[in-house]
Amino acid sequence: MKQNETLLNIRLNGEQIELSDLHIDDMGDDHISTSVDTPMREDAFVKTDDEKVVEIEAHFRSIMEILGLDLTDDSLKGTPRRVAKMYVKEIFQGLNPANKPAIALFENKYKYNEMLVEKNISFYSNCEHHFVPIIGKAHVAYISNGKVIGLSKLNRLVEYFAKRPQVQERLTMQIGKELQKDLGTEDVAIVIDAKHLCVASRGVEDDTSSTITAFYGGKFKEDKVKEEFLKYLELKTEF
Ligand SMILES: [Zn+2]
Repeated sequence: MKQNETLLNIRLNGEQIELSDLHIDDMGDDHISTSVDTPMREDAFVKTDDEKVVEIEAHFRSIMEILGLDLTDDSLKGTPRRVAKMYVKEIFQGLNPANKPAIALFENKYKYNEMLVEKNISFYSNCEHHFVPIIGKAHVAYISNGKVIGLSKLNRLVEYFAKRPQVQERLTMQIGKELQKDLGTEDVAIVIDAKHLCVASRGVEDDTSSTITAFYGGKFKEDKVKEEFLKYLELKTEF
C-alpha cells in the first residue's frame, strides 16, 4: 500500500483530508450527497463560451508545442481551435445550466401507472480524472405519479449530464435526482453500464471490463419492483 499513500490532499465537507485515508467504506451517505453536484467554481460562467474557446485554444497549443508537435503542419494547425470548440460547445456543454433541456410534462391521461423503462440510451462522456471517453448505455425507469415525460427528454437528460467531465457514480445520481425532481416522484431507477477508456487504453489496459452503477429511489428499493425492472433490462428485443 506504500505507493498509494497520500497521493494528494482533498477537501471534503470543509475538512482537509489525505486521499489515502479515504476508504470507500468510510465515504457514507454524507459524502455521496455532497458530491452529487459537479464541483464548479462560482465564476464558472463569467466568461462567454467564445472567450473560453480563445483561451483554451492558446493553452492547448502550448500543450502540443511542449509535446514537440510542429504546429505549422497543415494537419495539426487547426487542432488547438478544434479541441477548444469541441470542449466548450460539444463534449462539455453540459456544464452550463443554460444548456439543460427544458422538460415538458404531460398529464398521464390513460392512467398508465405501471413502470416505464427506456433502455439502451447510448451516451458518450469523459472521465474527469483523465479526460478520456466513457462510452456507455443508460437504462432509465420511472413509475408515473400522474405526470409523464416525453421519451426523447430522457435521452436529452442523459446526454446533458454526460457532457461534463464525469465519474460514473455521479452521472448516475445526477440523472436519477433530476428525474425525481422533474417528475415529482421518488420512484425512479437508473442503471448505467459503461466502458472507461482510461481503464481500457492505458493504466491496466483492460479492454473487456465494463462498470455498472445503479440508482434506486422510492418503490424501486422494493425487491419486487427492482426485480421487475432488471428483468426488462434482460429482455432481448429484435427490431
Ligand atoms: Zn479515468
